[in-house]
Amino acid sequence: MACAFFNKIITAFYPDRCLLCGEVVKSGLLCCPKCAQALPFLEEKGAAVHHEDPFSKISAPFWYKDGVRHAIGQMKFYGRKDAAKFFVPYMVQALEDFSPEWVVPVPMAEHRRKERGYNQAELLAEPIAGLLSAEYHPEVLARVGSVAQHDLSARLRRLEANHSFVLANGASPAGKRILLVDDVFTTGSTLRRCAWLLKDAGASEVVCLTIAVTPRFQQD
Ligand SMILES: [Zn+2]
Repeated sequence: MACAFFNKIITAFYPDRCLLCGEVVKSGLLCCPKCAQALPFLEEKGAAVHHEDPFSKISAPFWYKDGVRHAIGQMKFYGRKDAAKFFVPYMVQALEDFSPEWVVPVPMAEHRRKERGYNQAELLAEPIAGLLSAEYHPEVLARVGSVAQHDLSARLRRLEANHSFVLANGASPAGKRILLVDDVFTTGSTLRRCAWLLKDAGASEVVCLTIAVTPRFQQD
């Protein structure tokens, strides 16, 4: 805990550190040359989709491991919002030939957002929408339920995950090709739930785009 706090202070005063390993880098650089050489790229630019999944593709540039895992942690818990700047070009490249009309970030619970001050999925989704000339729709999905996930038992957590997203009032994704953006694809339950809401409301296609997928997911 003390160590996490210390890291936070260091990051605040010396922002020019490699996102992936924490080494000091030249001013303005986000990644040191050593880490840039060893990025854990996915061979397939994504993960396999099950035929019952509500999305047609899961795109991601990286495995969730090593420096990429560290950098995502920095973005989520240590205020390194500039990590989005580093990851977005790789994400867009991994998407290949899908051109969405809408880009939608996976929403974050309101209490969590207040605590952190931002939703990392939005930090990624907004510039991605810009690069793809798509409409950015951060308010199509909303998250309900106020219980912090780590306070729940595994069984309750599954129930909560099934009921914690809603389509916002007035949202009309009917007929749209939608890109759903989050930071990591782990079990996929969150992205699956969000994609179902969009598909049930008539979205013509939903594709998921994340920074990384967990190696465990790939083995399942
Ligand atoms: Zn590095």
